Amino acid sequence: MEREFESPFSSGTPSTGSGSGDRGIDGFGPGFIRQGGVLECREVSLEELAERFGTPLYVYDSQGIADRVRAFQKAFQGVDFLLAYSVKANGNVAILDRIGALGAGADIVSGGELHRALTAGIPSERIVFAGVGKSEEEMEVALEAGIYSFHVESAGELRLLESVAARRDLTAPVGIRVNPDVVSPTPHEYTRTGHAASKFGVPVEQALELYRTARESPHLSLRGIDVHIGSQIVEVDPYLEALDTVLAMVDELGAEGLELEYLDLGGGFGVGYEGEAGLPLEALARAVVPRLASRGLRLLVEPGRAIVGPAGALLTRVRFRKRSGGKTFVITDGGMTELLRPSHYGGWHRIELVTQREDAPVAPVDVVGPVCETGDFLARDRELSVPEPGDLLAVGTAGAYGFSMSSNYNARLRPAEVMVEDGQVHLIRKRETVDDLLRGEVIPPRTPTPGTDES
Ligand SMILES: *Cc1c(COP(=O)(O)O)cnc(C)c1O
Repeated sequence: MEREFESPFSSGTPSTGSGSGDRGIDGFGPGFIRQGGVLECREVSLEELAERFGTPLYVYDSQGIADRVRAFQKAFQGVDFLLAYSVKANGNVAILDRIGALGAGADIVSGGELHRALTAGIPSERIVFAGVGKSEEEMEVALEAGIYSFHVESAGELRLLESVAARRDLTAPVGIRVNPDVVSPTPHEYTRTGHAASKFGVPVEQALELYRTARESPHLSLRGIDVHIGSQIVEVDPYLEALDTVLAMVDELGAEGLELEYLDLGGGFGVGYEGEAGLPLEALARAVVPRLASRGLRLLVEPGRAIVGPAGALLTRVRFRKRSGGKTFVITDGGMTELLRPSHYGGWHRIELVTQREDAPVAPVDVVGPVCETGDFLARDRELSVPEPGDLLAVGTAGAYGFSMSSNYNARLRPAEVMVEDGQVHLIRKRETVDDLLRGEVIPPRTPTPGTDES
């Protein structure tokens, strides 16, 4: 097979690219299936993709993404509904383009994400803007763009937003992000956001006060209310608990003559990293839809992981294997710079040999990357058919918080991303080159030092 990329280390020439029984695999989305011993994405061999585009490589299943968007839209069809996809899960413009084309909007947390969403053609009236530390410039740009709503997370932010809107003689659409004080059962404390001691949202009583004050401002229009309790939640109850709190607020404000247009239940819908069932969407919808419909409220949700997580896999090749301290280390060409989740908050991803080795012994191994950090691993003490150098591994459910959290640490070049769609393969982001690495860096002229050759 011809390689469609050049060495990323050759400067000046950026790499270019053109674009048996079978079974599904626990911990991988439904688009990833084994055919005759080789793992495929919608009938495209992952071995071929790795040959063609190099590794590490992100592979996304376009149909898998679309199926998830439609599953949400179907589950919540009994109410006026907007899926505001959480861009931070995976912000590649090709993916945003496909999600937007299905009628979805975007939940953004920065001016950069606004730029991504608008570039992908997502209409501004389908965009909501969250985040505890929005800058004045970000507010200006979003206001000018005409986004659907600002999810305000403090009194200070509300004041700044009002002054930005007043200066331009505009009216800013607002929803207060409420902190409902729900301790959500997320796998790691870093992904919990709905308890009183988190930095997110405004406590109930203060939030009610903000609505009452903001009501008086000609430059603020109170459009809705927002809550987001955390990430990778697989139970319905915490959502209903948060919903109860927020609906009580909606009713209280309604009694004071303040009618809100929408309620945003946030994201966080869990997926099955190990092959377990994710959040039961239909059960959630059955409980939520009637309560909103009876109040004439529009429903927004902000899923990220549940849309793109299972539709992505990371391919990485084994470079070396060694034993030390009683452990077997499998050293791969991808690590924490490509997929930070294991190292950052103990994220667990299934790892599979792309081509099965029936003869290989199964033993516990540490799958580690080339980065100079002990915390650089993809899996620890994992029972695997022990791979050989050169073998290709696939890391499952890596479509969310994978590429979007990647970095250039150790001057690593961020990987390429491809999308499999209708039997075709599209390169949707080129592998970085050393020129990308130095972009924006400047070497200032040296000050001549007296007494040296340079003086
Ligand atoms: C991160 C985030 C989401 C998405 O969370 P997922 O677990 O990916 O669904 C939604 N809303 C807000 C405000 C967020 O910060």
